[in-house]
Amino acid sequence: MQTITLLGATGSIGLSTLDVIARHPDRFRVFALTAHKNIDALVELARQHRPEYLVVADKSNYAEVQEKARALGVTAEILAGEQALMEVSSDSRVTTVMAAIVGAAGLRPTLSAVQAGKRVLLANKEALVMSGQLFIDAVNQSGAELLPVDSEHNAIFQCLPEQFQYGQPETSGIERILLTGSGGPFLTTPVEALEAVTPEQACAHPNWSMGRKISVDSATMMNKGLEFIEACWLFGLEPEQIQVVLHPQSVIHSMVQYRDGSVIAQMGQPDMRTPIAHCLAYPERIQAGVEPLNFAALTDFSFTTPDTQRYPNLMLAIDACCAGQSATTALNAANEVAVEGFLQRRIGFTTIALLNRRVLESIQPQELYAIDDIIAWDRECRQLAQQYLESLEQA
Ligand code: NAD
Ligand code: MG
Repeated sequence: MQTITLLGATGSIGLSTLDVIARHPDRFRVFALTAHKNIDALVELARQHRPEYLVVADKSNYAEVQEKARALGVTAEILAGEQALMEVSSDSRVTTVMAAIVGAAGLRPTLSAVQAGKRVLLANKEALVMSGQLFIDAVNQSGAELLPVDSEHNAIFQCLPEQFQYGQPETSGIERILLTGSGGPFLTTPVEALEAVTPEQACAHPNWSMGRKISVDSATMMNKGLEFIEACWLFGLEPEQIQVVLHPQSVIHSMVQYRDGSVIAQMGQPDMRTPIAHCLAYPERIQAGVEPLNFAALTDFSFTTPDTQRYPNLMLAIDACCAGQSATTALNAANEVAVEGFLQRRIGFTTIALLNRRVLESIQPQELYAIDDIIAWDRECRQLAQQYLESLEQA
């Protein structure tokens, strides 16, 4: 029996995780559910899944959670704040933590699970992108079991040989990792028309249903850029060992190319319940509620190279990956500010890349020795990004 803390329970990944968990009451028990602002959803999930703890990240929502929980007969103990998120992630009764908070806010709670040596199911890619080596060092020190939920990294993990050694793809005969991406909703939109696209259009992903931040990142392909960096850290790869391939149908979720010419791909429906179930049950396989692929219905199956003009954010991320940790942390911070600004209609879609580039161009490399340094640097870069945002704001 695994006892699970679900960080970000009310989000897209959180709900898919609970869907899989509910199919296997013999295997999984929910220990804690956490959310930021969506109190009604959190309390309703608590009624269904009966966790021992409910945690609301924003302390100002505590009284409301208490009141609503009482009204629904929810008996879970209610906690609030970042410290409480860290406590339910590291509690000795917990075996497994699903890290599905979006953005930098997930860093400390996710690391807390890592430091406590849990089985950590990582969806929150920003946490790893921000902290890189420090995150991986913490995994190695505590003996935590880190499993990738992000569909591409989960696919790569499934295509690697069992004896794969971190940082040594050559010893397993691996030539490169082919990281696939759909190209998002603007794959064929004329580049000149991108400035005027709306948040609604950006969030209407053709294949995947996801939270708003990652949906915008998919439209700009910053998501693929963050995933590029994520792949380097998860598997110990050099940037030259990863190639991004556009595959608009999202049937192949990534591939591993071997020296002998073999390419191993993982395929499936674009439904996050598959990688979530894979991580939850690893190394076993369980029902995820996902239909198998119907090959007779697959008409198109195509691949191209991403257009650098259409996706400047992808290139910024690859450059930052080569530049090092202070650049990737800065880029992640700038991008969170820029995406929020776009979602609030303060800046246009193409200004996201402009703002990200400005931040990257105006910073100096930093030595980041500890998580507190990372968090301070993240804050500094956000302030810089906010200043640029104000100067670039639409009239
Ligand atoms: P979402 O916006 O749907 O959900 C985010 C969750 O985080 C919510 O439960 C929210 O309450 C919580 N949250 C938000 N801000 C918070 C804060 N400041 N403090 C504490 N909690 C906070 O996002 P999502 O699509 O589920 O994505 C979650 C993470 O998983 C992201 O890092 C994303 O990149 C990654 N991911 C998502 C998908 C997907 O298909 N949705 C796929 C791969 C990876
Ligand atoms: Mg992904």
